[in-house]
This record gives sequence, structure tokens and C-alpha cells, in this order.
Amino acid sequence: MSTNRTADLRTPFTRRDLLLAAAGGVAMLGAANAGRAAETPVPVAPAAPAAPTGPFTLPPLPYADNALDPVISATTLGFHHGKHHQAAVDSLNRAVMGTPYADMPLEKIIAATYGVADKSAVFNNAAQHWNHSFYWRSLKPQGGGEPGGALRQKIEASFGSVDTCRKELLTAATTQFGSGWAWLAQDGAKLVVVKTGNADSPLNRGQKPLLAIDVWEHAYYLDYQNRRADYVNALIGKLLNWNFAAENLGA
Ligand code: FE
Repeated sequence: MSTNRTADLRTPFTRRDLLLAAAGGVAMLGAANAGRAAETPVPVAPAAPAAPTGPFTLPPLPYADNALDPVISATTLGFHHGKHHQAAVDSLNRAVMGTPYADMPLEKIIAATYGVADKSAVFNNAAQHWNHSFYWRSLKPQGGGEPGGALRQKIEASFGSVDTCRKELLTAATTQFGSGWAWLAQDGAKLVVVKTGNADSPLNRGQKPLLAIDVWEHAYYLDYQNRRADYVNALIGKLLNWNFAAENLGA
């Protein structure tokens, strides 16, 4: 008989058993709720938590949210800046609350938390706040065109031509696997194109960023779906802010 009992315990529930159990549960819940409703007022849903206040704030876009249209639509820019970047700022404020990071400049937080396993939330949000603030200024309406002056000389000395620099940027941006960034950066006396994953940037390699291209899907998916190369090509040709790169260029 004991073998039969073992067999019974191992018998899986039939679909009918599960449906009956679920119906019974719903009936019991309904009865419990009906009883509660008669005795106590329905609790009011708590208000959505207020956005955390803290040392970091979302910088306004340096142009109207439709100013980059049609390369980047107002819808994409609105979500990207108002939701994604704002979320990084809010999460950063939450993560630094009550810690020494709350009084540190953003770049110092990034340097202090890079590669520190139990500080990844602080690092990721601090770095994404920095990267996005830099990305907005790497673009401008009626941008693209040709760099001039000392920047052009540096580009030609480092890549051979501005066209080669543009091609390297396109390649880096389209071959970055998954989420990340493509950058024009200064590494000592020369300029380099680098790609970084997730929230990483040339800052963490001792390089000085000059321009950033966001290749996270949220940067282009509403406008281009899976055509990342179309987004990057249009951005390089029509939006890249070479003046901003020149301002960032060190001696
Ligand atoms: Fe982004």
C-alpha cells in the first residue's frame, strides 16, 4: 500500500484540478474582499513617489526637442532626454543619498566607482548622466559638415583625412555589440575613435572625449527600428557638432 501512496503523491495535478483550485481561490478571495469592504473603507492608493531631490539635475537640451528632426524626431528626443536621462539622474540622486558621493563632482564619482563591483549602481547612473549630458552637446541642428582649424589638423594627422575619421566613427558605432557609445577622443597628442559598452566612456581609459554618439537602442529605435547604421550615418552627416569637439580639444 505504501507504494500506492508514493505513487499518489507523485501524480501531477491534472489541468482540471488546477482549474478547480484556481476557481476556488478566486471565490475565496472574492468572499474575503466582500467581507473587508463591508467593514473597512477601501484604502486609497498611495501617491506616486515624488522625484528624489539631490545634488544632480537634468540639464536642459541645448536646442528645442524638434530641432534635430528629421534625423532624430521630437518623440525620440523627448523620451531619450525626458525619460531615459531623467531616470539616470533620479537613480543617481537616490544612490548617493547619505553617502560621501553626494558632495563629489560627477567626474570624481565616476572615477571612484569605475570597476567597483558593489558601486555599480552609482557608477552606471553617474556615467550615464555624464555621457548623455555630453551627447546632447555633441549634436546640433544643421550640424555635420566639415571641422576646421586646429581640430581639422589633428584629425588629418591622426586619421589621414576627415572622411576616414567619419568612417571609423560609423564603424565603431555600428559594430559596438549591444548597448553603448562611439566616441571621438583625444589620447595624448593624437585623436582616436573608440567604442564603449553600456555606461563606459573614454574617461575611464585616460582619454579626453571630444564627441559622443549614443548607440543604445533608445537613441534611434522609434525612428529607425533596427537600422542603426542609418541613424549613425544621418547623425554624422547632419548633426555632429564639430565646434563642440574643437572646444574640448586640449593642447
Ligand atoms: Fe541614451
